[in-house]
Amino acid sequence: MKETARVAIVGAGIAGASVAWHLSREGVEGIVLLEREEAPGRRASGRNAALVRQSVEDEVNLRLAVESVRFLEDPPAGFEPRPEFRRTGSLLLAGDSMGLERLDRVAAAALRNRLEVRRVGAAECARIVPILARGAVAGGLLCPSDGVIDIHALLHAFLRGAASRGARLLTSCRVEEVLVEGHAVAGLRTSAGVLETRLVVNSAGAWAGALAPPGAAKVPLRPTRRHLFVTEPVPAVDPRWPFVWDVSGPFYFRPESGGLLVCPCDEDDAPGLEETTDPRIEEEAAAGTLRLLPSLAGRGFARRWAGLRTLTPDQRFAIGEDPSLRGLFWVAGLGGHGITCSPAIGRIAADRILGKESALADAALLAPGRFS
Ligand SMILES: Cc1cc2nc3c(=O)[nH]c(=O)nc-3n(C[C@H](O)[C@H](O)[C@H](O)COP(=O)(O)OP(=O)(O)OC[C@H]3O[C@@H](n4cnc5c(N)ncnc54)[C@H](O)[C@@H]3O)c2cc1C
Repeated sequence: MKETARVAIVGAGIAGASVAWHLSREGVEGIVLLEREEAPGRRASGRNAALVRQSVEDEVNLRLAVESVRFLEDPPAGFEPRPEFRRTGSLLLAGDSMGLERLDRVAAAALRNRLEVRRVGAAECARIVPILARGAVAGGLLCPSDGVIDIHALLHAFLRGAASRGARLLTSCRVEEVLVEGHAVAGLRTSAGVLETRLVVNSAGAWAGALAPPGAAKVPLRPTRRHLFVTEPVPAVDPRWPFVWDVSGPFYFRPESGGLLVCPCDEDDAPGLEETTDPRIEEEAAAGTLRLLPSLAGRGFARRWAGLRTLTPDQRFAIGEDPSLRGLFWVAGLGGHGITCSPAIGRIAADRILGKESALADAALLAPGRFS
């Protein structure tokens, strides 16, 4: 292959897919998405907990989440397959006074941004999610508009919309090198040949740092591994429960397949970028389950997997042009909010690429060069 593209997007996870959707909606032609796997969404975007959580402490992330929920609740006509968004609500929990202070901070941030939340006592937590009755709970914060989304439908709706407007997805196509001439991007060397382009979007998830060529900024991205476990079926579980996030653990769970999906919120470095599971973390998950949900003692996990979350030092996204290399555009460091905020992430990236001010966030707060 020796082809040209107006915009080459590396990685067909939720970041790349949303950027392609938003750019194509603005009438941009010549978009090529390159994905090294046989199918899109095989990495973090297909291995996460599917939570849509607006109730967070950081107000930049909170505003992007609130904006994204508007999109997810009522996507534009033709956004198909329409991803089911189950507005189950969320229940943040605290087990101690430090945790309760944290809930106060989340509540204050939510109220400042007109996100409806409500403080609830331990007894009400157990009324809403009865399986918490014997757990270590000091109080909670309910956010009724949080929920759970069909992540596969969401990814494919972005991709399908972009494809319907001419964007091309190349799977099994590994980008080996970003080609540079002077201080500007000139193309990509891929496993299928060279693609000439002046604009590369680096949405390669945990691999974004490794993709950046010499001459690009050193964006301090930290890929970390996180595990999820699904218990065997538990008759007491009601699929309508909100997802529950214990900030004191930290630990979260939600109904899944007749049992519970649980997460011990592990955050180990993942130097080899391995997604293999670690029995030590399974023990942590079992201990967390026992602490919060003692009635599940002795119940095993039926399924387990791990994925990579890529963090920045301030836990905000890195969206914007590289400060040192013209034509390299970062959409990376989505941490634990990439699914929730995917509509806003794609919107902001498309605005910036087209040289427009984004109404959603101040460019400086997300600039990839802000750490240097
Ligand atoms: C266990 C876990 C639970 C999570 N839970 C939630 C949650 O409940 N809610 C939420 O909002 N977020 C959650 N997240 C975070 C969310 O999944 C991520 O923020 C998001 O999926 C990141 O998307 P991405 O497109 O940046 O990365 P990815 O999905 O990893 O996509 C990057 C893509 O780039 C491709 N690629 C990499 N290098 C190359 C190359 N050289 N050439 C071609 N292709 C390449 C990869 O194959 C991959 O498909 C969770 C993450 C994990 C791991």
